[in-house]
Amino acid sequence: MAARRTRTAEPVVEETKPKGRKVEPKECGCGCGAMTKGGEWAIGHDMRKKSSLLKAFDAGDVSAGAELVERGWRTEAALAARKLDGPAARTAASAEARKAAKVAKLDARIAALTAERAALVGEVAS
Ligand SMILES: [Zn+2]
Repeated sequence: MAARRTRTAEPVVEETKPKGRKVEPKECGCGCGAMTKGGEWAIGHDMRKKSSLLKAFDAGDVSAGAELVERGWRTEAALAARKLDGPAARTAASAEARKAAKVAKLDARIAALTAERAALVGEVAS
């Protein structure tokens, strides 16, 4: 009984891992403690790190600015512009605007109360 030869041989399964690249889990660079699949960051955590560096820079951390430039996430010029018109600067400006609005509102209330008092006093007097 002759074995029937199959024409379709099993396809050669190739390794899908790229050759020459070490895939060694590392601790995520953002400091979250998660392990990566070999890169510097867990998925999306480079953005997390960038965001925290920007926040630190806005709070006045010079070394955070240096790291942003070093990583190519911001240029020196962009950081200089951010200092002048970044979220921190805009927050300060809007805080001033809110304060001015509050003062104006209080002034209006004081004027209304003064008028109300004058009316009451006038009623009593008459
Ligand atoms: Zn992380």
